[in-house]
This record gives sequence, C-alpha cells and structure tokens, in this order.
Amino acid sequence: MSDLQMKCLRCSVDMDPGYLADGGHGVNSEVAKWVAGAPDVRWYGVKMKGHDQIPLSAYRCAKCGYVEFRAIAATDI
Ligand SMILES: [Zn+2]
Repeated sequence: MSDLQMKCLRCSVDMDPGYLADGGHGVNSEVAKWVAGAPDVRWYGVKMKGHDQIPLSAYRCAKCGYVEFRAIAATDI
C-alpha cells in the first residue's frame, strides 16, 4: 500500500483511502485483488495461481461518492 493522495476528478477534493472487501464464499472477508489476464474459470472457481495479483486500494470521494481503484504492487513504488 502506498500513501498516494488521490483527488476526485469531479470535485478536486482529497479522497479517503480504503479497500474493497471481498466476501468470497467463506466466513472471512478478504481484500479484493486485481488479477492479471483473463479469468481462468474451473469447476471449483477461478484459478489464480500463476497470475499476478495485487491487492486493490479504493479511494472514495466524501463529496460525490465516486470510488476509484488503484492496484499498486510493492515493487512499483
Ligand atoms: Zn467527488
């Protein structure tokens, strides 16, 4: 995660950092991830092994509610 300060493209105000919770099908929630490539759907779900995965950061504008995502790998910053 980075300390990137996002501004809303519509309102030009600072956006609040957060994340997208992924309920999945288990009991525990996870942070939603960006996964490289096309979804490889199998009988048990989507196979993600071998695909690059980056946790998504979500930035929300408190004024208009616009949400923007960033997928920044630790190696990108
Ligand atoms: Zn806004």
